[in-house]
Amino acid sequence: MCTLCEKHKESIPHLVFECSNALGIWSWVREIFPISHFSNMDYLLSFIKSDGSPLVKFIKLVVIIFSIWMIWRMRNFSCFQDKIEVSRVILVIKDLTCLVGNSSKASMKNDMLDFHVIKFFSINTRTGKVLRPLLVRWEFPSLGWVKINTDGAAKGYTDLATCGGIFRGSMREFIGAFSTFLEVQIVLVAEFYGVIHAMEKLKIWGLLMFGWNMIMF
Ligand SMILES: [Zn+2]
Repeated sequence: MCTLCEKHKESIPHLVFECSNALGIWSWVREIFPISHFSNMDYLLSFIKSDGSPLVKFIKLVVIIFSIWMIWRMRNFSCFQDKIEVSRVILVIKDLTCLVGNSSKASMKNDMLDFHVIKFFSINTRTGKVLRPLLVRWEFPSLGWVKINTDGAAKGYTDLATCGGIFRGSMREFIGAFSTFLEVQIVLVAEFYGVIHAMEKLKIWGLLMFGWNMIMF
């Protein structure tokens, strides 16, 4: 009998993929990485091999190894000592992944998944080698166009979020700006809200009525 759930016959597939304790851990992993389910070893292996920067691939491997190790420890503890809460196990996996991730020299990509993952595990950022530096600068729009620069920011998943934007014309003149407090706490949603609010402001200020063209970054 499985000592964790005390409902099913104990076996490795049950302990790792079917037991409610394991499902709690995999559900937590799915909140961090974009994967639909972990129902057998093939899914785990394809998850580890799936696309990503060297750092994210390394973190995936570390999370999987620690998750399986902690599932086994939960099983042994429940046999010989006492049961461990899944929430406590998740904290241990998170701390260990942070420790190992920070000792890795693997490089990251400058994309949202990498930033999300390394921030979640409190791992220090490290960028890949820049092969060809590219100068990026703001340029004013052509005659009859309005350029809108928007931005959204969130402080983690439990704190405040905001978005804002600035409108400038073809002579670089300031047309207007806005900033808004948001209830959402996800940076990507905050970025989208920045664009949506900019569209609303355009309507309010009547720029669309004058038939102005628009560039939005
Ligand atoms: Zn079980």
